This record gives sequence, structure tokens and C-alpha cells, in this order.
Amino acid sequence: MINYFKEILVGFWSLLAGMAVTIRYFTKPIVTVQYPREKIKMSPAYRGYPRLIIDPETQTHRCIACEMCARICPSQLITVEGIKFPGEKQKRATKYVHEHYYCSLCGLCTEVCPTSALEYSDEYRLAGYHREDAVLDHLVILQLRQTAAGLPVTAIPSAEEIAAAAAAEAAAKEAKAKAAAAAKKPQAGEEVKE
Ligand code: SF4
Ligand code: SF4
Repeated sequence: MINYFKEILVGFWSLLAGMAVTIRYFTKPIVTVQYPREKIKMSPAYRGYPRLIIDPETQTHRCIACEMCARICPSQLITVEGIKFPGEKQKRATKYVHEHYYCSLCGLCTEVCPTSALEYSDEYRLAGYHREDAVLDHLVILQLRQTAAGLPVTAIPSAEEIAAAAAAEAAAKEAKAKAAAAAKKPQAGEEVKE
């Protein structure tokens, strides 16, 4: 009989203890993230996939298509193409694709970049249904980020624009080579040294 009442008391006490915990947390702010409707802010130390930085001055990327990141990547995941457009001093990336599925986030690409054009993204929702979902076109991603931030969108040059720039570059190189050859030619009346 004593055990019977003892069990009732213990059960009642554990019920009260449980309710006390519930009541204590009932009025506290919710800490559970309502994923996927809510996104958390990642720590600055988080390493998502490497992506192009938006330069605060020019509001576009700083990639000059030198391909150093592509060459140093141990898994050969980066494809970069670029060309020097008429009137511009440096090459500009016309394609920047990163196949993220084998990326070890080693950071070599971000470190080697001579223009500090790369950073780690804070994106953590990287799951996909197909392998192609992990193939990231960074010029397109840049456009999406610029749109989201209300910045002018960097146009991706069309195949015709690239071909025209390549032809102009080839013509400029040829003209330069001809000028150099003409400068080396001995002028009339000048002695040719044996
Ligand atoms: S972080 Fe490393 S593995 Fe990933 S793309 Fe850059 S160099 Fe390649
Ligand atoms: S190393 Fe930097 S500048 Fe060169 S291609 Fe890569 S991102 Fe562009």
C-alpha cells in the first residue's frame, strides 16, 4: 500500500518537474531555426564554395582571366576563359565555371589569385539531385547577387562580342609585330654589319 502511494507521488513529482521545464522555456525566445523557411547567418570562418568577390568600387568582379586558380586547383575543377576587349587594359573573364562536387575547399585558388578576386561564399544549401547542380557558373551567380543587392548587373559577353574582340586583338598583335619588324629593318643608306 505504501509503495502504491509512493509511486503516485513520484509520478506526480516527475510530471511537475517536466511541466516546470516546459513553462520555463515557454516565455523564452525561440532558438530553433525554421529551416528551410529561415536561413541562419554563417560564421565568417565558414567556407562555402569559392566565388567571385563584388568589388565595392567597381561593383563588378576583379577576375582578369589569368587562369592561375585553374592551374593550381589540385582537382582541376575550374575553367576560366577571358579576352582583352578593345580599349581595356587587361583581360576580362568571359567564362568562369567551377565544378564544386570534388572541391576540398583547400583555398589554393583564393590564395593564388593576383587580384584577390575570390572569396568563400556563405552558401550552405548545396544539395542537388544531379551532378550538374554542383557545376557553378560564377558569372551567372555574380549577376544574381548583383540583382539581389540592387547593383548594376555585369553583362556576360556574347559569342559574337568575344569573336570580335579576339579579331581586334589579333589585328593589333599583327600590326605591332609588323611595326617591330619594320623598326629592325636597315634603312636605305645604312650599313649592314656582317
Ligand atoms: S578550394 Fe581547392 S579544390 Fe576547391 S576549387 Fe579552389 S583550389 Fe580547387
Ligand atoms: S586567379 Fe583570380 S584573376 Fe586569375 S583567373 Fe582565377 S579568379 Fe581570375
